[in-house]
Amino acid sequence: MRDHYDVIVIGGAAAGLSAALILGRSRRSVLVVDAGEPRNAPAEGVHNYLGREGAAPHDLARIGRGEVAAYGVEVTAGRIVAASATSGDGIDPVGFSVTTDSGAVVTARRLVVASGAVDVLPEVPGLAEQWGRGVVHCPFCHGWEVRDRRIGVLVTTPFGAHHALMFRALSDDVTAFVTDPGLVDDTARAGFAARSITVLDGPVARVLSGQSGAPSGVLSGVELGSGEVVELDALAAASTAEARVSFLSGLGLVAEDQLMGDFRVASALAVDAVGQTSVRGVYAAGNVASPMATVIASAAAGTQAGAAVHGDLVQADLAAALAGAGAAARSGAAAGSRA
Ligand SMILES: Cc1cc2nc3c(=O)[nH]c(=O)nc-3n(C[C@H](O)[C@H](O)[C@H](O)COP(=O)(O)OP(=O)(O)OC[C@H]3O[C@@H](n4cnc5c(N)ncnc54)[C@H](O)[C@@H]3O)c2cc1C
Repeated sequence: MRDHYDVIVIGGAAAGLSAALILGRSRRSVLVVDAGEPRNAPAEGVHNYLGREGAAPHDLARIGRGEVAAYGVEVTAGRIVAASATSGDGIDPVGFSVTTDSGAVVTARRLVVASGAVDVLPEVPGLAEQWGRGVVHCPFCHGWEVRDRRIGVLVTTPFGAHHALMFRALSDDVTAFVTDPGLVDDTARAGFAARSITVLDGPVARVLSGQSGAPSGVLSGVELGSGEVVELDALAAASTAEARVSFLSGLGLVAEDQLMGDFRVASALAVDAVGQTSVRGVYAAGNVASPMATVIASAAAGTQAGAAVHGDLVQADLAAALAGAGAAARSGAAAGSRA
């Protein structure tokens, strides 16, 4: 690891490695620092990623690391714990310093934040242990794998009824567990009836694994507050995706609440169309800026941000060259007048 790079990319999964790839191919010096915990790590495969359909999340990252290394990008395992602005190099006023969890301090002309998001889960005992396996959230990511199975949908948000309908498109056997009657109005209940979705009102006490003949560690159902057990093959639940940004506080960057209606569903960094944040020279891509983005969409955002960073640096390089040419012309003129 050197002391200084053109670009430091924070996070080395779909978004970060895609930014690094286009930057490496543009002959930028790039360091990727990655803590190795992609959001989809618990899942057995990445779906809807054309060309690598079903690849294991860590395999996709491993392949990506090999691809960026071919263009001279350095990838290091670690976690960025702090970031701050520097005064740049005199001509380009933009520059940054980051600190890793091992205490290393590295500087760069630009930053790409691709640190993803953390899923905050409903507080039901046994649910977190099944996250990404027996407990799923996304019908596009996991729906095919649970088609025609006994699917429960834990309704904990105003969008739970829609969630249940999405899974109903994949199986005839769907049960909606309505934890709060205020979340489901009469229209939604009519929709459940029209689509033959069973509705069970009341709290879910815990998620069960390894019971009712299911192998150890495999989701087998839920236990209701009443003590009744409902056998299931999968449970769909909504998370709140919180952007991983605590290390950006020194730059004054914080995640903003993402609302659907007036319900808070996520937090994310605000960016423009090419990934530029409100701090000039700090770009962001992937789930940290767009919590609903799939892997391929996060990769595309990383490519976009990387391209924008390179364009930004091209302009900074031009300004430096023009300033250098101007200085040379001035010193040549001064030498001429002295002669
Ligand atoms: C269970 C589950 C299954 C999913 N399945 C699919 C699927 O099948 N198909 C699909 O398209 N989408 C799927 N998704 C969505 C997918 O996870 C995201 O689209 C994708 O992970 C976003 O990529 P990213 O690069 O933005 O962030 P991430 O993949 O989350 O990667 C961020 C990286 O940054 C690192 N990092 C974080 N903070 C720091 C720091 N301070 N310093 C250094 N590194 C840091 C992390 O460790 C991680 O390696 C799934 C999501 C979940 C929760």
